[in-house]
Amino acid sequence: MPDRLGPPLTTPVFDRLALIGMGLIGSSLARVARQKNLARHIVAIDASEEVCARVSELKLADTVTSNIAEGVRDADCVILCVPVGACGSVAEAMQASLKPGAIISDVGSVKGSIVAQVAPFIPEGVHFVPAHPVAGTEQSGPDAGFPTLFLNRWCILTPPEGQDAEAIAKTRAFWEGAGSMVEEMSPAHHDLVLAITSHLPHLIAYNIVGTAADLEAVTQSEVIKFSAGGFRDFTRIAASDPTMWRDVFLNNKDAVLEMLGRFTEDLSSLQRAIRYGDGEALFNHFTRTRAIRRSIIEIGQDSAAPDFGRQPKNSAQ
Ligand code: NAP
Repeated sequence: MPDRLGPPLTTPVFDRLALIGMGLIGSSLARVARQKNLARHIVAIDASEEVCARVSELKLADTVTSNIAEGVRDADCVILCVPVGACGSVAEAMQASLKPGAIISDVGSVKGSIVAQVAPFIPEGVHFVPAHPVAGTEQSGPDAGFPTLFLNRWCILTPPEGQDAEAIAKTRAFWEGAGSMVEEMSPAHHDLVLAITSHLPHLIAYNIVGTAADLEAVTQSEVIKFSAGGFRDFTRIAASDPTMWRDVFLNNKDAVLEMLGRFTEDLSSLQRAIRYGDGEALFNHFTRTRAIRRSIIEIGQDSAAPDFGRQPKNSAQ
């Protein structure tokens, strides 16, 4: 797999690209679009004047505005990079200014709800190609972005049936230009897959870190001091943006509850194995899960370095 972004495209995928929401994902897209020449002109739109000022300082876009209707005017492609719960109101605000033939996309971590919120505001002759880059960090804001965020990561497109083939091909070319591998599926299937691979792990991390923080018999300082025993990796996930994750759970309720039900049943069977001293059941379970970790490394979706490649504390000595 390539370890860096390739050379800039000779012809940009889009003439005018408008990004709404200049946080981690929006600012990373602006950076890679500039570096790879994915768009000739980049418009950055954010509700926050403070974010707009920072985007201008960082020179992430050619035009910066907090006015959605103005920002999307004449854009060939508009990508919504705002929290899932804000997509409907943003779509409503841009509706009247969209250029015929424009492509509207997004990066939301949930797809069914975004389709339901945004589709009613897509005018005739404008194409809607929802997308979800399966890439991110626990950081937020325009300073957190970087151009290689999407490199070698999957981007899932969930175009409605019968969507314009050229609009899908252009959206695919944009994400491939950003270094991603692209796959298409239905919004419902996306939401089920992501419920187990992303949403449930975040819920578990939020829960375990909360439980540890509430423990009275173990002090907070001990939790922090001995965190390298596995807890530390949960704290990274549990530091993820509260607005984003509130919206993910509220907007993927059914799939998350379905996976949570299965998870609870499986947890009960592990609990039972511990209670009755069934070492064989525990050993077999852990052997199966270890193989899954190996396959993730084999397909290049994580590092095989011990402790996720963290430098030992004393390595500089
Ligand atoms: P972020 O860093 O918090 O950035 C979101 C930006 O959108 C903020 O600058 C926010 O401004 C702005 N915003 C919020 N509501 C708005 C509105 N109505 N109009 C215009 N701007 C608005 O969030 P992010 O991590 O980039 O996430 C953005 C989207 O990407 C979410 O839908 C999320 O599901 C998806 N996603 C995230 C990740 C990840 O790991 N973070 C990965 C894949 C996909 P304020 O700060 O002033 O609210």
